[in-house]
Amino acid sequence: MSARLAELGLDLVAASRVEGRGAEWALARVAGRSRLAVAVPAGSRILDDLEGETQGSPAGAALVGPLSPRNAAGLRRHLEWLRPRPLGTRTSAGLGDRLGLATPGHVRAVRAVGGFAAIAPIFPQQSIREMTRTGRTPAEVMDDATWGMFAEGWTDGTGADADHLKTPDDIDACLAVGFSMFTIDPGEHVDPTADAADLATLRAQAAGLPWAALSDTEDAMRRRYLGRSTEVEHLKIAFDECTLLRAAVKYGKAVAHVAAMARHLRKAAGPRLVELEVSVDETETPTSPAEHFWVANELNRLEVEWVSLAPRFVGRFEKGVDYIGDLGALEKDVAAHAALARHFGPYKLSLHSGSDKFSVYPIAARLAKGLVHLKTAGTSYLEALRTAAAVSPAFFREVYAFARERYDTDKASYHVSAELRKAPPAEAVAEKDLPGLLEQFDAREILHVTFGSVLRATAPDGRLRFKDTLFGLLRANPEAYARNLEAHFVRHLKPFAQARS
Ligand SMILES: [Zn+2]
Repeated sequence: MSARLAELGLDLVAASRVEGRGAEWALARVAGRSRLAVAVPAGSRILDDLEGETQGSPAGAALVGPLSPRNAAGLRRHLEWLRPRPLGTRTSAGLGDRLGLATPGHVRAVRAVGGFAAIAPIFPQQSIREMTRTGRTPAEVMDDATWGMFAEGWTDGTGADADHLKTPDDIDACLAVGFSMFTIDPGEHVDPTADAADLATLRAQAAGLPWAALSDTEDAMRRRYLGRSTEVEHLKIAFDECTLLRAAVKYGKAVAHVAAMARHLRKAAGPRLVELEVSVDETETPTSPAEHFWVANELNRLEVEWVSLAPRFVGRFEKGVDYIGDLGALEKDVAAHAALARHFGPYKLSLHSGSDKFSVYPIAARLAKGLVHLKTAGTSYLEALRTAAAVSPAFFREVYAFARERYDTDKASYHVSAELRKAPPAEAVAEKDLPGLLEQFDAREILHVTFGSVLRATAPDGRLRFKDTLFGLLRANPEAYARNLEAHFVRHLKPFAQARS
C-alpha cells in the first residue's frame, strides 16, 4: 500500500489523479500554485527521479514538488502514456501551442469528439521557426504539453511533432527531448522556377542536379520514367520529357535533402521508434499529381520511410482563415493526392496550415478515407487573445494596435493576404466589438502572424510589454481559456472523427 495522497491533506486537482507504477500521482494547489504530488509504496525508487519535499511513513513516501523540467521528465519516464510515440497511419491531428498553456483545452476537444480512437492527438508540436519566435526550447514545448496532459488526466497517449525541421541539428535537438514525429521541410531546396521553364532550360538544369546524392544518373532516371504510364486508381500518370524534367528540377534537390535528413534521423534515433513526415506545403507553386508521384517514387527508391506527406495543394491555405480558391479544383487535387498516398504508402495526407479550413475538412475527410493528418498551429494563440479580450478589453486593444504596427514586417515569412487598410484602426473599434476583430479576416491574420513580436515586445522600462500580462490573464482564467479552445477545436476535429465512424 502506498501512503495515500488523500491523507496528505492537499488540495488535489481531481481531473489529474492517476495511478501508475504502483504510485498515486496528481496536481495539487499549494498556496495558489500548482505542484506535483506523488505517493509511492515502501521500497519504491520512483522518487529518485523527482524533486521536491518528501516525507516518509511506514507505508511509503510522498513528494510535493515543482512543475520543473526534472519532474516533467520523471512523469514521462514513469507514466508511459505521457511519453510520445509514433501514431502510424491512424487519423491524427496536431494541435500546436505557442504559449504552452493550451494542452488542457486541446485534450478536452479530443475527448469531446470521441478520444484517441476517433482521432489520435499530437499535443507537443512546434516548428523551429515558432520556437525561435516565442523564445521556447524543444524541451519547454515538450514539458508544457506533458503538464497539460497530466492536469487533465489524459492517459490515451500522444504523438509529438517536431515541425518544419530544416537541418540535422534541428533533428538532434528535438530527438533529445523525446519528440516522436519529425517533419522534414525541404522547401528551400524546391525550385519553383521549374513550373514556367521551357524544355531547353529544364534540360540544362537537370544536368546540374545532385545526381550522386540521389544515387542516380539522368540517363537512368529517363529510362525509369519515359514512355511508361501507371494507373493509380482513377489517375493515369505518364511522363513525357517535359513533365519528367520539370518534376526532377523542381523537387530533385528536395528529395536529396529529405533522404539525407531521414538517414540522419534513423542513425540518431537508433532503436527508438520514430516517424517522419515530408512537407513541401510552404512552397510557391502547387505540387501536381505527376510531381507527387515522382517525389514518392524517388523517396521509395532511396529507402526513405514516411508516414505522412504534405503536398502544396492548389489554392491558398492561409494562416487562421478558411480556404481561398476554387473548392471544385481543390476537391480534384485532394482526390489525386489521396490516391497517390494510398498507392505508394499507404501514408497519410497531411493538411498544413489546417486551422479554420472548415470548407476543406469534409472534402479531405471523405477523399482521404481516414488516411489524413490535420496540422493546426497558431489559432490557440488567437483563442488566448479571445480569452484575454473578455476579461481585459483595454489590454486586447493595445495588443491589436501593436499588431497593426508590426504586420507589414512580420507577414514576410507567412502566406497571408490581409491588408492593413481593411482592418479597422484600434481606436475606431467600440469596446463591445473588440472580440469581433478575431472574426474579421484582415484583423485575424494580422493578429495571427504578429504573435512573436507581441510576446517579445518590451516597454521602455525593459519589462515585457504584453507577454506577462497575457500569461497572467490566462493563468487566472484557465477554465475560460480551455472552454474557448475546446469549442474552437471541436469544429476542426469533428469532420475527421465522424468520417471514421
Ligand atoms: Zn506547414
